Amino acid sequence: MTMRPAGMGRGMRNFLTEEEKAHAPKVTKELLERVFSWLKPYYKQLLLTLLCIIVSSILSILPSVLTGEIIDKGLIGRNLPLLVRLILLSLAVTFGSNLIGVAESYLNAWIAQHITFDMRNKMFRHLESMSQRFFTSNNQGDIITRMTSDIDGVRMIITNTFSSILSNGITLVVALVAMFQRNWLLAILGVIIVPLFTLPTRAAGKTRWSLTQEAQECNDAFNGILNETLSVSGQTLVKLFGKEEEEYQKYEAANRRMVELNIRESMAGRWFRVVITTFASIGPMLLYLVGGILMMKYNSDLTVGDITVLVTLLSRMYGPVNTLLNIQVEWIRSMALFTRIFDYFDMKPEIENPKDAIIPDTSTGAVCFDHVRFSYDPPHEILKDISFELKAGHSVAIVGPSGSGKSTTVNLIPRLYDVTGGAVTFDGVDVRKLDLAWLRSQIGVVTQDTYLFNGTIRDNLLYARPDATEDDLIEACRKANIYDFVEKQELGFDTVVGNRGLKLSGGEKQRISIARILLKDPTLFIFDEATSALDSISEQKIQDAIEPLIASRTSILIAHRLSTILAADEILVLKDGEIVERGQHADLVRKGGVYTELYNTQFGKAAEMNPEGSEEGRVAGWNASYTEGE
Ligand code: ADP
Repeated sequence: MTMRPAGMGRGMRNFLTEEEKAHAPKVTKELLERVFSWLKPYYKQLLLTLLCIIVSSILSILPSVLTGEIIDKGLIGRNLPLLVRLILLSLAVTFGSNLIGVAESYLNAWIAQHITFDMRNKMFRHLESMSQRFFTSNNQGDIITRMTSDIDGVRMIITNTFSSILSNGITLVVALVAMFQRNWLLAILGVIIVPLFTLPTRAAGKTRWSLTQEAQECNDAFNGILNETLSVSGQTLVKLFGKEEEEYQKYEAANRRMVELNIRESMAGRWFRVVITTFASIGPMLLYLVGGILMMKYNSDLTVGDITVLVTLLSRMYGPVNTLLNIQVEWIRSMALFTRIFDYFDMKPEIENPKDAIIPDTSTGAVCFDHVRFSYDPPHEILKDISFELKAGHSVAIVGPSGSGKSTTVNLIPRLYDVTGGAVTFDGVDVRKLDLAWLRSQIGVVTQDTYLFNGTIRDNLLYARPDATEDDLIEACRKANIYDFVEKQELGFDTVVGNRGLKLSGGEKQRISIARILLKDPTLFIFDEATSALDSISEQKIQDAIEPLIASRTSILIAHRLSTILAADEILVLKDGEIVERGQHADLVRKGGVYTELYNTQFGKAAEMNPEGSEEGRVAGWNASYTEGE
């Protein structure tokens, strides 16, 4: 008779921590309805599962009952044919119950997988519709946890918790009925004994859990010491300060504590088993004793078979009782999980497609900022009253120290964020009135740190225009100055890039992303120049690629290099979220303001380092170094 109480594996808890208790969700009718709305599409399969559970629970109890017949009528009654029949019946019933169990498991897995399939899809859609702010203010790890382990938790709830409540409940009821049918007195005794068994289980579980926690913490501290002292810089520090002995003492103390905890932990597990096995055998012995007394002293009509059946049934009850007593814990955890997922579903996308969205027939890429104000976290304003007009076909360079709001400004055009005051118009229409997909299709952005998907160069290019032909790809890459590089690769366009493939330099990535923009063929081109220094050949190549782009369409350039600035029709100088100067390079330099300062400090230095560089020379990252130390 082996009894392993449910939910007592290492690391599992059959009680709630204080934190879990404090955060236990309120189970409202709405919450339950919402949970069940996910099950609803599969109600037919659910009913079938329920039927399987009922039948298999009843059948699983039957062999215990048949044991009584086997003993009384078969063995004691010395009836061999009946004995054989009963044995065969008992085997058949066990087999049947297991077969139904298989069907039940299949149905269970099927339902759970389909529900989580629906949930994952809906969650993915929902996350895709969330705005930039959501992704910048939420930890990426949290978002992924929600998508993966939380939804997987739901699968566990459906396959384990829900079906465990049902099958254990039914098994318990059937066992109790069968016990009371035999002898009510012994049945009552059983009803009293079984729950008592779970008390030491819980106490032992708690002790063990806190020891596991303590060992875990100790282990973390232990690893922390290793990481700190055995790293290159850590070792240098230890050596230079002569702290070897001190560090050794610290390490030895942690090591000793870990040894003690580990011994205590494994012994707690051992005692736990002693307690459980002892308690588990007290029950049957009590039944034998009381049953024997009833049989011998009180001439009860109890038979040996009856007592055996009662003892077998008793042992069948431990598992279900233990599980059901812990159900509250499971239930609260499940509801907390559902609440967490539903909270995510309830987050409203901040930026949505407007009702009656406008889709203009043509587009020129003209942009106008009209007294724009913006803040990420009100009331702290990042942009204060920004106004400028970018006419179709023209280009503007935005310069300014890092943190002055350049990227923020351009992010308002494709509505990665919405203005908090004033308006941004695209082709004369407020961007908030335009169809979001259309608006974004008109804008091509080359960002500082270009993101390429894990895939081939071709995949990355086709992302912009899936129907582009080979010739289109070649032409775009030629214009972006990257074709000679692609040609040099053994697999050409089919070279895999990204984490699992070819590592590209910053300049190469940016040129691929320029080719991607050329394929997208937007009316407005936004170029956020990399602040990081590129070698002069890469810089020249990028410059050559973007200059025709700037000349051929409306462009906004967040510029860090003089050559880029000079390519623009107008320069806007941003400082602390305000446009402090605007105009042409020559006028601005003469003015003696912020621009002059940027120009003098940075261009002067760069020219010294790069004596052959003319004024149009490539000055690496002047804005970046202007704000040295940021
Ligand atoms: P620039 O492009 O000129 O370097 P940014 O537009 O990136 O400047 O940033 C302007 C200011 O806004 C900075 O102070 C920055 O810290 C802040 N900021 C940028 N992005 C966010 C964000 N997602 N949430 C909150 N603050 C932000």
